[in-house]
Amino acid sequence: MKFLVINSGSSSIKYQVIDMTTETVLATGLVERIGETTGHLQTTFYPGTDQERESVAEQAIADHDSGMRSALALLTDPEQGIIAHTTDIAAIGHRVVHGGEDFRASTLITPAVLAAIERNIPLAPLHNQANLDGIRVAMEIFADSPQVAVFDTAFHQTMPPRAFHYALPYALYEQDRVRRYGFHGTSHRFVAGECARLLAKPLAQCNLITVHLGNGCSMTAIENGVSVDTSLGMTPLEGLVMGTRCGDVDPALHLFLHQNKGMDLVAIDAMLNKESGLKGLCGLNDMRDIHKAAAGGDERAALALAVQTYRNRKYIGAFMAVLGRVDAIVFTAGIGENDPFVRAESLKGLEAFGVRLDPDKNSGHTGEARIISQNDSRVRVFVIPTNEELAIAREVAGVVQG
Ligand code: AMP
Repeated sequence: MKFLVINSGSSSIKYQVIDMTTETVLATGLVERIGETTGHLQTTFYPGTDQERESVAEQAIADHDSGMRSALALLTDPEQGIIAHTTDIAAIGHRVVHGGEDFRASTLITPAVLAAIERNIPLAPLHNQANLDGIRVAMEIFADSPQVAVFDTAFHQTMPPRAFHYALPYALYEQDRVRRYGFHGTSHRFVAGECARLLAKPLAQCNLITVHLGNGCSMTAIENGVSVDTSLGMTPLEGLVMGTRCGDVDPALHLFLHQNKGMDLVAIDAMLNKESGLKGLCGLNDMRDIHKAAAGGDERAALALAVQTYRNRKYIGAFMAVLGRVDAIVFTAGIGENDPFVRAESLKGLEAFGVRLDPDKNSGHTGEARIISQNDSRVRVFVIPTNEELAIAREVAGVVQG
C-alpha cells in the first residue's frame, strides 16, 4: 500500500511516496521555483538503500499543476518502478498549516473541508493558499485516491482557554478568531508517541515536554497525551528564538520601530520573520556555522547561542510549572537531534527540578531515538528524530482505515 505525502508551498512542492506496509520511503522529491524562469526538479528514488539514485532537472515549471505532473512523470517512469499508474497511490496526505478552530484532527478532504481551509486563509495567508493549490491539483491528477488534510495546528486544539487566549479585547477572538493556535503539531504528536513507546507507557498517561528545534522552533507541554500549551501562537512567530524569527518580543516594539525608524508594518513583520532570531543576533542562521564562528571567537555567535538556549530553558521551566509532573523532555528536529551543546545549555540548572543529563549519552550521536539522561534522573530526557512525512502518512492511515 503506497501513500503520497505532499507539502505544497507558494513556489514549491515537496513530496514522498511511502510504502506503508513497511513504512519505507520509495521516493522523495522537490519541485522548486515554480513560476520562475527556471524551475528545479529533484527526486531521490529508494533513499538510504543500496539502490538509491537521483534525478535532477532544471526546467520552467509554470504552476503547481505542471509541477505535480512533472513529478508524476518521474514517479511513473517504468525504469524507476515506483508506481505504474496514479491509482497505485492508495491515499494522499496533505500538510496544511492552519486549520484554525475548525480541525482538531486530520480529516478526509471534502468540499466542506476545502471551504474551511479557505476560510482560514486570513490566519496564514501564504501557507494555506499554497496548501490549497496543492490539494486542488492533486485531487484532479489523483482523482481516485482519498485525500486527507493533516493540520499543523490540530494537535494543539486541546489547549484550554487559559492557555490559548491572549489578554486582548474579547471581541477580537469572537469576531476574528485572534488566539493562540500553535504549530509543528504533527512533529510534537509524532515524537510524543515515540517517547511513550520508549517509556513503555500509554501516551494517555504521559506528561511530556517536546522541544522541536529546527529552522522553526517550538515547545509543547503535553499532559496525559494531549497538548495543553505550546510556544508558537496565532502565527509561527511567538515563543522560542528561531533561525530567522524573533520569538517573544514586547508587542510595543512595533510602535517604537514605526515612530523611531519610520518602518511600516509590512517591513516590521518581514524583519521579525526573516531578519531576526539567530540571524538577527549574529548574521548566521545555520547552527553549524554559528558553532564554528563561536569557536573562532565570534562574540555575537556566542551571544546568539546564549540567547536561544536561555529562552529554551525559560520555556522548559514554565512548562514544568504547567505540568507539575514531567515524565520526559524530548528534543527533536535539526538542532534538537544533532546539537549536544544546545541540549545541555537548555537544561542547565534544572537538576533541582529532577533533570539530570548524562554528558556521555548526550554527546554520542546515533541518528536513532535514544535516552540521554542519567539512570537516576526523575525526568527522563530523550533525543527522538522527527519524521514529518511518516507522521502525516500514519495520520492518513488512521483516517482512511478508520
Ligand atoms: P530542520 O528545520 O529540522 O531541518 O533543522 C534545520 C537546522 O538544523 C539547520 O538550520 C541547522 O541549524 C540545524 N542542524 C542540522 N544539522 C546540525 C548539526 N549537526 N548540528 C547542529 N545543528 C544542526
